[in-house]
Amino acid sequence: MTRIIAIANQKGGVGKTTTTVNLAAGLALSGKRVLLVDLDPQGNATMGSGVDKRALTHTVYHVLLGLSAIQQVRVRPDGTGYDVLPANRELAGAEVEMVALENRELRLKAALSPITSDYDFILLDCPPALNLLTLNGLVAAHSVMIPMQCEYYALEGLTDLVNTIKKVRAHLNPHIEIDGLLRTMFDPRNTLAQQVSTELQQHFGAKVYDTIIPRNVRIAEAPSYGKSALDFDPTCKGSQAYVALTAELLWRENAARAVA
Ligand code: ATP
Ligand code: MG
Repeated sequence: MTRIIAIANQKGGVGKTTTTVNLAAGLALSGKRVLLVDLDPQGNATMGSGVDKRALTHTVYHVLLGLSAIQQVRVRPDGTGYDVLPANRELAGAEVEMVALENRELRLKAALSPITSDYDFILLDCPPALNLLTLNGLVAAHSVMIPMQCEYYALEGLTDLVNTIKKVRAHLNPHIEIDGLLRTMFDPRNTLAQQVSTELQQHFGAKVYDTIIPRNVRIAEAPSYGKSALDFDPTCKGSQAYVALTAELLWRENAARAVA
């Protein structure tokens, strides 16, 4: 069965895109069939996967508005082991144009349905806002992964996100679950980060991934080469952490399936 995971947090710069790209690469290396959907007009996941967003004539924007078939828009960038449904700044217009459309929150879910069975995992890189694009992601997904930095204001934003997910569950997608909270850009020498990390574990227990992504300069360098960190420098600490996260995700999926 295909697993669709939204990587979401309305807070900017917490590591959503980095996590989506490296998880896509990690799952592909594990032999999984993966589609990465870029739901952010910034197009960072697109560029970070080696697709030039400025050269695109068809993007997820056209798919959401029903102007192009998804099969014609998805691409397999050279050197990656996963497919990408790319985005660029045109997608910002979809936010406005979709408002007038019927079932505006269900557009992505409907668009994905003809190709869902082509993949084991579909990862949705959401923009830093609780807007209609993120909502489309949450409606299409089975679960949400929430990357967060362990800092003072992190927990504050989390309440809004959790409330939005609850609303989505009540009205639009009864099956959606929070898969887990992922601690990103972690610096163990920072006392506050350690305190917030402990607090997270106390509040959310098993919903917090055991894997912690450390702050690592190689992770930040990789996107400028249009590569995942796993591809750019597979042995660096950051890549190793994303390999561990991939393994943890697969382990959790198997455990959940065994129980079901
Ligand atoms: P946005 O909200 O703008 O979409 P985001 O949540 O997707 O941002 P990223 O783009 O993944 O966040 O990361 C923000 C910045 O931090 C990027 O420059 C990225 O390269 C860098 N970064 C992400 N993770 C790490 C890490 N573990 N170590 C060092 N730098 C990182
Ligand atoms: Mg991003």
